[in-house]
Amino acid sequence: MAVNGEPSFRQSVDLMFNRAVAVMDLSPGLEEKIRVCNSTYTVRFGVRLRGAIQTFTGYRSVHSEHMEPVKGGIRFATSVNQDEVEALAALMTYKCALVETPFGGSKGGLCIDPRQYDEHEMELITRRFAYELIKRDLINPAQNVPAPDMGTGEREMAWIVDQYKRMNTTDINGAACVTGKPLNAGGISGRVEATGRGIQYALREFFRHPQDMAKAGLTGKLDGKRVIVQGLGNVGYHAAMFLGGEDGARIIGIIERDGGLYNPEGLNVQAVRDWLAEKGGVEGCPEGTFVKDGAKLLEEECEILVPAAMEGVINMSNAANIKAPLIIEAANGPITAGADEILRMRGTVIIPDLFANAGGVTVSYFEWVKNLSHIRFGRMQRRQEEARHQLLIDELERLSADKGLGWTLSPGFKQQYLQGAGELELVRSGLDDTMRGAYQSISQMWNGRQDVTDLRMAAYIVAIDRVAKSYRSKGL
Ligand code: NAD
Repeated sequence: MAVNGEPSFRQSVDLMFNRAVAVMDLSPGLEEKIRVCNSTYTVRFGVRLRGAIQTFTGYRSVHSEHMEPVKGGIRFATSVNQDEVEALAALMTYKCALVETPFGGSKGGLCIDPRQYDEHEMELITRRFAYELIKRDLINPAQNVPAPDMGTGEREMAWIVDQYKRMNTTDINGAACVTGKPLNAGGISGRVEATGRGIQYALREFFRHPQDMAKAGLTGKLDGKRVIVQGLGNVGYHAAMFLGGEDGARIIGIIERDGGLYNPEGLNVQAVRDWLAEKGGVEGCPEGTFVKDGAKLLEEECEILVPAAMEGVINMSNAANIKAPLIIEAANGPITAGADEILRMRGTVIIPDLFANAGGVTVSYFEWVKNLSHIRFGRMQRRQEEARHQLLIDELERLSADKGLGWTLSPGFKQQYLQGAGELELVRSGLDDTMRGAYQSISQMWNGRQDVTDLRMAAYIVAIDRVAKSYRSKGL
């Protein structure tokens, strides 16, 4: 449904899809098959809380089953509705294709404000929602594998996996029914940070492409670039920490629900996060100047804008005021189709959501594989790798001594070289490789064809082409 002339989230995704297929050679039938959402299940269930029955509404939408299981997070927010869940499920299809994870697209949501309930109540509600989905195979290691999203995290995933195991006591692969679990419940190192880490790797790869940087009028490295982040939740917090702490970027603005903080010298991200966790907002935080109308900070001068909260925040009402030459969509759908057009006309470069925030699903894929193989990554080879490295070091030192060369290896090098890769190092390496490879494929599409005007169009083309190939090979 369009609101104020602005298309809905699902319509926005469809419009972006349409721009891509307009320059592709797909039959109208196949085009339609890929575009539509296969099914959406709506559930209304009651939970007895505080002496009365409360009814909740939830959804699980399956956009495409060209590969199974289908994959996509579960969101807990009051804004959840069918249109939103279907848009997010479609994005999951394209995202999984783009980063070559062998999944179809799905998404779920529960219409709830989690802040209104205590932990025990949330557990009752989550388990009941999970029960409804599990009994219909809408949570299942082989068919449909959820993950965290807005308003959910490790805690909810732990309840879901436990609920699945209670209902499927002989399923040896039960742990793979959901990803984003805590380590002690079958999770994987590096999943919590994965989406924010993916944002960092995506930006690093962009900054390795001078031709693409030139289109945004940017030069140099990430070091010293001014960044504004909206949403200091899982994705925004990790992205800001890594960009600021490891790559030398300056986080000059942080926008939260109650307003924004601005400091041209750079904000201490951890201090702001601690304040937010304690007070529930950023107002009063001494790290920067508080701006009541936080959305205004989106329009502030900076090199990189990172919307990491929710959809539709850059729309036709504020797009023309955005000054950042580069926007990386850490959230899903933060830019509406109307705003996308305005920004494109102005030459703003947008690194699109289906690529930018794919770090989460990529590491979820690693977690799912870990659960199915029942062994932690690196467990077999780590010490063997260290032993081989030790052999080389010993040999070099022996040669140096025998020949009187006087070589000494620096202790820092020795320590780094000798250390075999554990699970976290392997996960980060796999994620980095995935983000680099996906960026290269879309950059090549963007630069290689006159009719491909931007990175979003390029990403959709690469993704849709892969989905189409998959459908064709099934005989469709
Ligand atoms: P989260 O709930 O951990 O964090 C969201 C943050 O945004 C919260 O701090 C919240 O207070 C803030 N926020 C909400 N509305 C806001 C507003 N109007 N203005 C400013 N701040 C606001 O959620 P998350 O997991 O970080 O997800 C954020 C976005 O990233 C969503 O669009 C989600 O779909 C997307 N995403 C998440 C993952 C993941 O792994 N968690 C993966 C891919 C994409």
